[in-house]
Amino acid sequence: MSLTDLTATELLAKLTQGEITSVELTGVFLDRIAAVDPTIHAFLRIDRPAALARAAEIDARRASGQPLGALAGLPVALKDVLCTAGEPTTCASRMLENFRPPYDATVVARLRAADAVLIGKTNMDEFAMGGSNENSAFGPVHNPWDTDRVPGGSSGGSAAAVAARMTPLAIGSDTGGSIRCPAGLCGVTGLKPTYGRVSRYGLVAFASSLDQIGPLARTAEDVALILGVLAGHDPADSTSVDRPVPDYARTVSKPLSGLRLGLAREHFGEGLEGQVERAVREAIKVYESLGATVREVSLPHSKYAVATYYLIAPCEASSNLARYDGAHYGHRTNQEAMLAELEIERKALDAAGDTEGLDRLDNALVRMYRRTRSEGFGPEVRRRVMLGTYALSAGYYDAYYLKALKVRRLIRQDFDRAFEEVDLLAGPVTPTPAFRLGEKVDDPLSMYLFDLFTIGANLAGIGGISIPCGFSAEGLPIGLQLQAPPFEEERLLRAAHMFQTATDWHTRKPPAI
Ligand code: GLN
Repeated sequence: MSLTDLTATELLAKLTQGEITSVELTGVFLDRIAAVDPTIHAFLRIDRPAALARAAEIDARRASGQPLGALAGLPVALKDVLCTAGEPTTCASRMLENFRPPYDATVVARLRAADAVLIGKTNMDEFAMGGSNENSAFGPVHNPWDTDRVPGGSSGGSAAAVAARMTPLAIGSDTGGSIRCPAGLCGVTGLKPTYGRVSRYGLVAFASSLDQIGPLARTAEDVALILGVLAGHDPADSTSVDRPVPDYARTVSKPLSGLRLGLAREHFGEGLEGQVERAVREAIKVYESLGATVREVSLPHSKYAVATYYLIAPCEASSNLARYDGAHYGHRTNQEAMLAELEIERKALDAAGDTEGLDRLDNALVRMYRRTRSEGFGPEVRRRVMLGTYALSAGYYDAYYLKALKVRRLIRQDFDRAFEEVDLLAGPVTPTPAFRLGEKVDDPLSMYLFDLFTIGANLAGIGGISIPCGFSAEGLPIGLQLQAPPFEEERLLRAAHMFQTATDWHTRKPPAI
């Protein structure tokens, strides 16, 4: 068995006991990346010498008996939406292709302080907008279970990297399902924490009231290990919540007794593929055999969730992305070419005596914005900016954005009511297993509908986890989603771990690579 087949918890034990060094371990994962990633394209950037140097430094500190952090010597991959000081942070966008942030995101600083080895930056949908990873400006990620299929998005690089054993741990972000969806489609474990549990400082903003950072790993135990490092209050993020961080790694192995599971009627209806439903219902039977009780509950407003999300998220995105104007940072259009273009247009209008046309002609600043943004943003990002700008404009604000905020409150109330009766909600992560690359690219609506089961948690601000619970007839992973009341990550992880002690879906390995 290769070291890459072990979980982070197992690897940490070997490092602590001195059976392996971090340099060896990091080298093994870097070699695996070199062998496999040309096929998968999960990484946008690897800095082999830097990772090995960092590993050597941790090994030296260990050898001299110095105290080490909770992840000492373990490789961790970062979604390229997280700022890393002095190193490229692209968001898989041409706009930020050459951007090097001057500071670390709080989670990155926390991982460094915990002595993790940051092994590389992972591919994603541009600015985290997408559910298939096909919106990356640098080419899609391929699902390790079937390389003709999508890995899910937007944290598809992080999920595929864990599934293909290129890293034991990865970080993603989830605005409408971007951790849970790729975790489900790649057969790994992914947690979206409660809004406010993990600092968003240094996470490039997509939709600030929905975005949340979280881990992807092979097991709930590993997710618990790294969540303890990520979670906690941060004065630099006013929405991060100041409440104690439980010792997730210690409590994860405690089974829950008398667990009450709720199945939302609305999550087992239209759009859910038969084989996904069967795998999810089998998983629920496993919980029953472990002593859980199951009852049906209702989230009556969930039928509005997709529409609500696809107003709120683009509205916030259009506002957040206004900063990419070519003047502050990021891509700027070729100034000389732009001025020459303007001059040619001006002369032509002048020669034709078109004074109205001359009046309408952009000034140089507006033309610079326009060219910069149309060159820097891909089609999906442009679509979202246009949708959001339209919905926020005078006269439409009340009808769209304000209305969506009200529906969002109703959706949250549905969850509150359900959690009066049950401890956790259980259901599917995605309506179908991984679809083929290209299958939905020309159909944004069907792509958006793929988020049906995950966006509720973001709108309500609650936590959710995706765990492997079976395979389709084609051998593609199927995920089970658990959702919990706010700040009950401990419960989610304990329930996920219970399932993983009774099943072995999470131990399966993609056969093809
Ligand atoms: N698929 C959703 C979207 O395209 C969710 C993305 C995310 O969670 N970042 O907006």
